[in-house]
Parts: sequence; structure tokens; C-alpha cells
Amino acid sequence: LHYDRIASEDREINSFLALSRERAMAQAQKIDEMLAKGAPLPSLAGVPVGIKDVLAMKGAPATAGSLILKGYRPPYDATAVAKLEAAGAVLLGKLNCDEFAMGSSNENSAYGPVLNPKALDRVPGGSSGGSAAAVAANFAVATLGTDTGGSIRQPAAFCGVVGVLPTYGRVSRYGLIAFASSLDRVGPLTKTVRDAATILQVIAGKDVMDATSSTKPVADYVGGLAQPVDGLRVGVPTEYFGDGLDPEIRSAIDGVLAGLKLVGCVVKPVSLPHTKYAIPTYYVIATAEASSNLSRFDGVRFGLRAEEANTLSAMFRKTRDAGFGAEVKRRILLGTYALSAGYYDAYYRKAQQVRTLLTRDFLTAFADVDVLVAPVTPTPAFKLGEKTDDPVQMYLEDIYSVAASLAGICGVSVPCGQTKAGLPIGVQIMSKHFDESTMLRVAQAVE
Ligand code: GLN
Repeated sequence: LHYDRIASEDREINSFLALSRERAMAQAQKIDEMLAKGAPLPSLAGVPVGIKDVLAMKGAPATAGSLILKGYRPPYDATAVAKLEAAGAVLLGKLNCDEFAMGSSNENSAYGPVLNPKALDRVPGGSSGGSAAAVAANFAVATLGTDTGGSIRQPAAFCGVVGVLPTYGRVSRYGLIAFASSLDRVGPLTKTVRDAATILQVIAGKDVMDATSSTKPVADYVGGLAQPVDGLRVGVPTEYFGDGLDPEIRSAIDGVLAGLKLVGCVVKPVSLPHTKYAIPTYYVIATAEASSNLSRFDGVRFGLRAEEANTLSAMFRKTRDAGFGAEVKRRILLGTYALSAGYYDAYYRKAQQVRTLLTRDFLTAFADVDVLVAPVTPTPAFKLGEKTDDPVQMYLEDIYSVAASLAGICGVSVPCGQTKAGLPIGVQIMSKHFDESTMLRVAQAVE
């Protein structure tokens, strides 16, 4: 059924880059046999899911939205992917995204943009645009995305679905094509908070293949949803409600806060004073890490290799010239510059220091409140092509999402209404490190 819908409707949306029919059919048959035997079914038995193309699925293409990985098929599964399948999920295929997850509109994919199923002249957000669109278009019940600086939360908000950024270290990054390793996280996009909790329950936990994954026990996210929210302290960060915020988004969030008060939450203003430095800090650290991570794509090991090169360095150069898109090249240049000997102290080291200040802002706030409620994006989904000529405008899309990324805390984007023009609006709920339970509980109260 889902494949039929993809076949008829995804030609326009462009969310799937590859389908994994054989693997899906084998899994479906396995579930059927379990059913026939009356065997107990695992938590995701038969649930159709899609996987962002930056995550490895054994034998399936993994392009990361880039030409440089064309033809590459990883010989192994990412841990999160393997865990979904082990829990009974049916893996439908790989989802379109911005090249190496760099972008906020899915217009940086080498395989064409994804359209927003809720408004076809609009972007779905990025970089997990395919993951958000596939859920919004009912091609999949859940998808995996990745969020380095907003890439799960922002597309979720633009497409009217739920998107969870788990705490850094909560979900293994093994099998994820790295963008910025100290920021990259894997998380679910779904229709409901309960579905997101169910997926997170499966993919969270320590993985010996990822040294940064945490040994902290995984809480009972689904069970925790039944607990009441009354008495919880909800902080509203003043800095997130400045001039740039669209008035319709602002009033939708006011409505959310009023609703939370009604169910017994205590709502109070808080301050995150370093917020204005979040975007420059993020774009120094993310590009620095990207310039290092992407050096492995040289035409030798994976995917594309330029023909007609007489020397090794010419082969590197020509492969990268043909294989990387403009935004990826821009970031490699920026990152290499920020890390270079003469500028390291001025940019990279400074950014790391500000990252600590941003983290402390959150820790101070969480001494006083249980969750923070804020916008996800300054505007609703914008038109295709509207921001492609101005990278700074595109980077400003991330204004409300990158601070949580730098601090390593968890966040979720939950639909909370729509604009007069019918575009979805999302609200962001953030919680302290490893407190996904409280965050999801409040998210469910909002939905
Ligand atoms: N828009 C941000 C960027 O382009 C976020 C990307 C992400 O989270 N993967 O870097």
C-alpha cells in the first residue's frame, strides 16, 4: 500500500531516492509468519519506515544527497536502522536530503528538491526534507532524520509533523555519514508524539560502535506519556521572541502556553543571554568539522572517481570539483579557513568558548524550569528558490534551533496550528540532557 502511494504520488514530491522493496517484502513476510504462528510481535511489527539517505542500509545506495557518493552502497547497516528492523519495522527505502545534510530547504540535494506535501510551491525544510515530507504525505508511518543544527525539527515544523532531536549520545551515530560529529544526531519524524516515543525507545541506547553513545539507561518514554504534566515548570526564553519572529507563529505559541497553563503548568520567562551568538558559533564549528569529515571523499574510497586525471592530486581535485555541490564547497572553504593556523584562535577556539557559554545558559535555565517552549523557525515554509541566492538568509532559518544543537540538549518540534494561508506551524519544546521523558510528556500535552 505504501509503495503504491509512493509510486503514484512521490514523482511530484521527490522524497524517496531509492526503494528497498526486496528487503521490505522479506521483512513483511517474516512478520506474516510470526502472525500465523501466533508468536508475540515486536513493538514495530509491520510499521513502514523510511531512512534519510545519510544513514547506511546494507546494500542500498547511500548518496547523502551528493553526486560524489553516487554508486556507493555501504556493506553494513547503521545501528539505528538495524534496531528498527530488529523491532519489526519494514524498511521502505532511502530519503532525499540536502547534500551531506547541509541546508534548511532541501534545495541543496544533487537529486532535486523535495516539495512540501502541505503546499507544493513551498520547501519542506531541510536537511531532512525527504524524511518530513514522506511522513506528511503518508508514504511512511515514521522516518529517521538527522539533526546537526535543526535538520529534524525545522522540516518537521514546515511539514506539520513531529520531529525529535534526542540528547547528544542518546542514539548511536554508527553508520551515519558524518557532517559535524560533535553535533550530528539521529532521531525520528512521525505523525504523533506517541509514535516518536515508540521509535526513540527502539533506537536509543549504548552502542559499542559509537564511543560517544551514552551508557545511561533508556527511560520508558512511552510509559512516561501517561504521567500528568501539572506542576511542571515551563520556561519561555525571552531571546526567542524578538523582532524576526512571524506574528502568526508567535500567536500560535502564545496559544500553546495558554493551554499548558490550563493543564496546570507554571509558565515563566527565562533568559538565555548568549542566544545571539548561536548562529555564528554554529557555522564556525559545523563548517570546521565538515571540512575535516569530508576530506575522506577523494575519489579513492567511495562513489565517484574522475576519469581523465594523470596524477593523484588531479584525480582528487577533479573528483571533488565534479562531485561536491556549491554549498558543500562553500562550507569546506569556510571550515578550512576557520581551522587554519593563523585563524584557529580567532574563530574555532573562540567558537568553542562561546559554545560553553551557550550550554551554561541552558543549564542555568534548567535549574529553574523543567522544559523550555520556543518557536522552531522564524517563518513558516518559504517558497522554493526564495532563499537560494543568499546563504546568510538561509543560515538565519536556524536561529531558534542551533543553540540546542550546540548545547547537546534534547528538543522536539510539535505541530501547533497553521497560518491563515494553511501552512503548518511548529512549537519547540526543549529539555535538559537525557530528559526526553519530560519533554515528550509536555509535547503530548501540546499536540
Ligand atoms: N540548516 C543547518 C545547516 O545547514 C542544519 C543542518 C542540519 O541540521 N543537518 O547546517
